[in-house]
Amino acid sequence: GIIVTGATGKLGRLVVEQLLEKVPAEQVTAVVRSAGKAADLAERGARIAVADYNAPETFDGLFAAGDKVLLISGNEVANDRVAQHRVVIDAAKAAGVALLAYTSAPGTLSAALADDHRGTEEALRDSGVPYVLLRNGWYHENYTENLAPVLAHHAVVAAAGEGRVSSASRADYAAAAVAVLTGEGHANATYELGGDVAWSFAEYAAELSRQTGETIAYRRVTVEELTGILTGAGIPEPVAAVLAGVDTSIEKGELVVDSGDLSRLIGRPTTPLAEAVAAALAN
Ligand code: NDP
Repeated sequence: GIIVTGATGKLGRLVVEQLLEKVPAEQVTAVVRSAGKAADLAERGARIAVADYNAPETFDGLFAAGDKVLLISGNEVANDRVAQHRVVIDAAKAAGVALLAYTSAPGTLSAALADDHRGTEEALRDSGVPYVLLRNGWYHENYTENLAPVLAHHAVVAAAGEGRVSSASRADYAAAAVAVLTGEGHANATYELGGDVAWSFAEYAAELSRQTGETIAYRRVTVEELTGILTGAGIPEPVAAVLAGVDTSIEKGELVVDSGDLSRLIGRPTTPLAEAVAAALAN
């Protein structure tokens, strides 16, 4: 069967929903921490398995030989995510799965946020399990799901200079995962996934202005200023520093992905940023 961890997360849910449109529901297993959060997926026929990356025994017997597994990276950045992911890798190896795909980060990303991904990739390569690295670039939604302060202050605040981001919608990355899980010939492949169009924060502000009819400017700040703004908004200082570090990477061009892998895997152009903006404004 096809098994997806993190299935009640925003990306995982999209993967499971897209899988259910493509393969018989009884072939799809959603691995979740809380079955209650997966009631809608169960209703649509997906099998539900309850397991936690922090409790290795919960993965005992969860996978079977020949399964194709998508390990969606966890979001507990204060935890040892490499150790968490290794729990899934070890279980996949013990079961003899046919494929273990992992949602990683772009190979060019040097920000602290990428460390866990590099560690997990190494564990995957060392495991001997046939793997696929889905090196996901940024989501449009990282920006468009946080429009309230932008609209309130008429400003896109970032420390990214003139740097560009090849973002795509979460649904695009979900479609790439589905293509790999339902297709053939992906063993030990590394895909650098990103949107077809890289945009700058000035262009993002211009698009917001166009769609809202208001003047929204790009307010370029330093990394120190951004860290201060984020902590001032209640974000803990270590998290704020990690987020600000991402902008440094963007300024250096580390979130520009020009491989074309994403549109090639999904067989269509990636979703334009303007569409994600429109969807967010309609909410
Ligand atoms: P979400 O935060 O919506 O989902 C994270 C998922 O991980 C949830 O399903 C969560 O379970 C699960 N999870 C976390 N800890 C554990 C654990 N200990 N055991 C089992 N499951 C766990 O993120 P997205 O779906 O939007 O993104 C998926 C991943 O991609 C993120 O976790 C993060 O690693 C990365 N990411 C990538 C971004 C990008 O732009 N490329 C941006 C942000 C994150 P539960 O539903 O029970 O909470």
